[in-house]
Amino acid sequence: MRYESTCTGLAGEIIGFEALGMDVAPLACAERKPSAQRYLKHQFGNRFLHGFTDNAAFVAGHGECFLHGRDCPCPAMRPDISIHGLPCQAYSWMRQRSGSTKNTGQVWQHPGHEEVFEVFHSYLRERQPLGWIVEEVPALAQPDKRTGIPFLQSFLRKCRSLGYCVVVLQMDHVVWVEMSRKRLWMIGFSEELGHKQAADAFLQIVHESEKFRELGEPTQIWNIVSPNSDAEMARQQYEESGGAHGQGVPGKDLFILYLRYNLNTNRTYLFCI
Ligand SMILES: [Zn+2]
Repeated sequence: MRYESTCTGLAGEIIGFEALGMDVAPLACAERKPSAQRYLKHQFGNRFLHGFTDNAAFVAGHGECFLHGRDCPCPAMRPDISIHGLPCQAYSWMRQRSGSTKNTGQVWQHPGHEEVFEVFHSYLRERQPLGWIVEEVPALAQPDKRTGIPFLQSFLRKCRSLGYCVVVLQMDHVVWVEMSRKRLWMIGFSEELGHKQAADAFLQIVHESEKFRELGEPTQIWNIVSPNSDAEMARQQYEESGGAHGQGVPGKDLFILYLRYNLNTNRTYLFCI
């Protein structure tokens, strides 16, 4: 399975795929954070063909490569699957939105928004992966103040215009860890992969796997999100955030703990939650 990735992070999915017995052939990845680049080079440096420092390299056809320390070309092969941990800062309720800089201003002014709405869709157009997976925060469902249309809807519309049938799932990671952490998972199926038929079969597998967990009663892990639930999800997300920046935000205590560790030890701790 030819696998590619942007906003790669630590590429943990490779370990997951291989644990399922799949044969993974990594093509290229893209990651901006130097700490993650160092990890990728150490862990998967002999497997990825190239590791770009910017997602835009896939659109440009070449870019700076942190694996080889020079400008490298994009692999000519089409990926079977691509995985994208796209930035969430633009949509996060944790972020100040009333400032005058790009990072503190409105959603559409934040550089992360362009990464989600321009660079990602350009990636799909250029690379045409057979299938893809994107992770985002549920706050993507908040309405764009300029138009009233939820960002999620506009995002999906762009994916569909590029020929993909998209399934949207929501999962609360409290299933795995003792902390509520809701995330959206968008999964795209190309015509060649079976489009809607493949998407329906995928959802069937999700239902079946929820029915037959090894321990205990059937557990609902995934919540399938319909386009009509966008507004309701946005409202819920806002209420859960306490309705204001930095007030009663779930996980805030953990965040403070993280900072305290940093100050005392002068080290960066990575929480894989
Ligand atoms: Zn390279």
